[in-house]
Amino acid sequence: MLNIATGLFVFVLFLVGLLLVLFIIYSKLEKELRAFKCGIIAVLLFSIVVALLAILPESIYPWLLLLPVFSLFIIVPKFGNKKVEFEIPERRFDERDVMFSRNSLKKGTEKFNNYYQMRPENKSADDVFRAEPGLMSKEASLYNEIYFNAAKATFETVDLLQPLAEQSLSTNKNQVSEHELADFIKNWAIKLGAEAIGFTLIKSHHIYTHVGRGEAYGNKVELNHKYAIAFTVEMSHEAMSHNPKGPVLMESAQQYLNAGQIAIQLAQFLRNLGYESRAHIDANYRLICPIVAQDAGLGTIGRMGLLMTPNLGPRVRIGVVSTELKLPINQKEPDYSAIHFCEICKKCATNCPSQSIPTNGVTNQKKPKRWTINQESCFTLWCKVGTDCGRCMAVCPYSHPDNFMHNLIRWMIKRNPINRWLALKLDDFFYGRKPQASKNQY
Ligand code: SF4
Ligand code: SF4
Repeated sequence: MLNIATGLFVFVLFLVGLLLVLFIIYSKLEKELRAFKCGIIAVLLFSIVVALLAILPESIYPWLLLLPVFSLFIIVPKFGNKKVEFEIPERRFDERDVMFSRNSLKKGTEKFNNYYQMRPENKSADDVFRAEPGLMSKEASLYNEIYFNAAKATFETVDLLQPLAEQSLSTNKNQVSEHELADFIKNWAIKLGAEAIGFTLIKSHHIYTHVGRGEAYGNKVELNHKYAIAFTVEMSHEAMSHNPKGPVLMESAQQYLNAGQIAIQLAQFLRNLGYESRAHIDANYRLICPIVAQDAGLGTIGRMGLLMTPNLGPRVRIGVVSTELKLPINQKEPDYSAIHFCEICKKCATNCPSQSIPTNGVTNQKKPKRWTINQESCFTLWCKVGTDCGRCMAVCPYSHPDNFMHNLIRWMIKRNPINRWLALKLDDFFYGRKPQASKNQY
């Protein structure tokens, strides 16, 4: 009996040691210097504990075994993931109120005057960001000739795709079953580079009231498609670790392009088969992508207002195709544990250089409103530095790479509030409450 207990105890110590060594290896591969150093300290401390245990009498081991058994009883059970139902907005959102749209207005033009006649309350906040150099500007404080021009080239490539987003239909419907098409689309999108894909019915609050960008500016949005295909593409962990510098801007542009390209291919494919379809790509949206993606089961919108996906957190861009093809709907409950984690975490809010992210709680309210950031102060910072910052996305504990070690923590977060508290403390210890941006060459 004593031998079995000793064997089990040694096995548990071996597992803990193995996890710590794996953590060090992952940290090195991820170029997380602080986590790497803390991992080494943790291994040294663990070795001292093992050495001390070795001099204890063997008869004590069965009692010490109670510790890991007790830990399993805390880590594994699922509890405390209360449903949080955010209020669904009664009014649809006007894309002309989005910062990119407001940024495109030129002083003295009819568009400019009309907008501020309609929304005089936005004028003073917009004067503040207009006084700054602007996104991708040469005068911006973080201007870098190479990164900024690379990003500009990528955005210009996205612009070349714009005419392909919406095309008229010239063929009759094919004979392939809707079910077969849905399966094919799912597989193909992943092969094209999507991380995850889902389908949803389009609801009224998904659709903008008016177009806010491009030649159709000011037109009422007419979107008769009933279904949407939503998918995500990954934003590079390494690029985002350089926040808020140029690599973030480059990566944003690149993933807008990748998402746009996949959306255009899918929309054209469906049109070729006789189904009216439209790709929603950067600067040419008719839908609010994060809400569509959440309803398609791809994640949960968190404190920073971005979609938090199961394996990459907010470190994604979203692409959407709306279509008349009838699609099997993903009826997935949002992951309420993500909302509960956001409730205690607030790391994005602590690190936001413009203090644009709210710190309020929502889980105790009956019909809470979704967290929304102060888009004016966030955008003003972008116009100052010239990039799209990305600090909130980079520091989020959900944004760590999609690998065994981080997925183990993500799994724990889903189980219960004790794990969530522990995961947050570990994240703060290994990566810092205010993580440093990467100093590595990009
Ligand atoms: S940083 Fe924390 S609070 Fe912010 S979105 Fe991520 S998990 Fe939520
Ligand atoms: S992008 Fe930067 S400024 Fe904007 S909310 Fe995130 S951290 Fe704050």
